[in-house]
Amino acid sequence: MGRISEIIRQDIQNMQAYAVADVPPGSIKLDAMELPYRFEPPLMEALVRELVQAQVNLYPNPAVSGLQPLLKEVFRIPEQAQVVLGNGSDELIQLMTMLVAKPGAKVMALGPSFVMYRHNAQLFGLDYIEVPLHADFTLNLPALLAALDEHRPDLLFIAYPNNPSGVCFSRDEVAAAIEAAPGLVVVDEAYGAFSEDSFLNLSGCEEKLVVIRTLSKIGFAGLRIGYAAGHPAVMGELAKIVPPYNMNQLSLVAAKFALRHYDWVAEKVALLKAERGRLFDGLSALPGVTVFASQTNFLTIRVPDAASVFEALRESGIWVKKLHGSHPLLAQCLRITVGTPEQNTVVLANLGRILAG
Ligand SMILES: *Cc1c(COP(=O)(O)O)cnc(C)c1O
Repeated sequence: MGRISEIIRQDIQNMQAYAVADVPPGSIKLDAMELPYRFEPPLMEALVRELVQAQVNLYPNPAVSGLQPLLKEVFRIPEQAQVVLGNGSDELIQLMTMLVAKPGAKVMALGPSFVMYRHNAQLFGLDYIEVPLHADFTLNLPALLAALDEHRPDLLFIAYPNNPSGVCFSRDEVAAAIEAAPGLVVVDEAYGAFSEDSFLNLSGCEEKLVVIRTLSKIGFAGLRIGYAAGHPAVMGELAKIVPPYNMNQLSLVAAKFALRHYDWVAEKVALLKAERGRLFDGLSALPGVTVFASQTNFLTIRVPDAASVFEALRESGIWVKKLHGSHPLLAQCLRITVGTPEQNTVVLANLGRILAG
């Protein structure tokens, strides 16, 4: 065999691996938008009773698992929409990119936004065009419309609400962008459960619109369940490139259980939305802090010195995400997942202390 460095793509050798923080046990983990709750014992025991029945000796058949009809029912996905399951919505983002990956194809997204849009475009050798947001992370619609007109992208990603800002764009502006887009449009609603609005009700109506969602931010990040809802003309093509057996029996069983107990999820989501409001007010009252309006389960803030605040929080056992350095518009920004009421109180107390001194 030749040398690895000559065999493996140079651009991949130049990449950095996606950094998953090694958070020590017992920390207050607010870096990855996970739900800070798991099923309480009675529900967990009921889930375990179903999991022991799972046929792990057989290949999964997601198509007849019953998960899609349940997703359609719980999230009121239109009848005419077709649903494709992914191993997390990350996989669906990758597959949607693969779907358009012809030589010279273009992928467009807003900046800053979810890093995987760029990553996947580059992985498939596609041109990636980033359209900057306003400094307050709202949509610059004239800039987006001009960029759509100039570059004619095959695929446009819009995170609605957006990560890493938490801001939800105006529905009318997103609708105008979808209308103007010459290619496919993925509306990524990873935070849909925490938002006031959704495009899910339009999925299946328009050929170019694909809405991607996930169970990750509502309590089940460990299951790796994402789903795409769209027009059969596009979902039929997507289904062709989904790896066979991409979902696993245990996750399918657990996801169905979770959806049958969606009242538990809804209760936690309501609690976190109330906590988001309390955290927003508490953070806004701290000296030198700017808080951006969020329709997600996290808050993005700007502080005078993000690196030192990040370090001081970590020394207090609180792990957040340092956004500073990842994009010019995110200078001095940190991203804090909304935690339990107790965790949020600890965050506010520590940030107050850190910023005072
Ligand atoms: C977290 C996140 C995802 C990925 O979710 P998974 O389903 O866990 O892969 C996708 N898009 C956005 C905007 C996210 O924040």
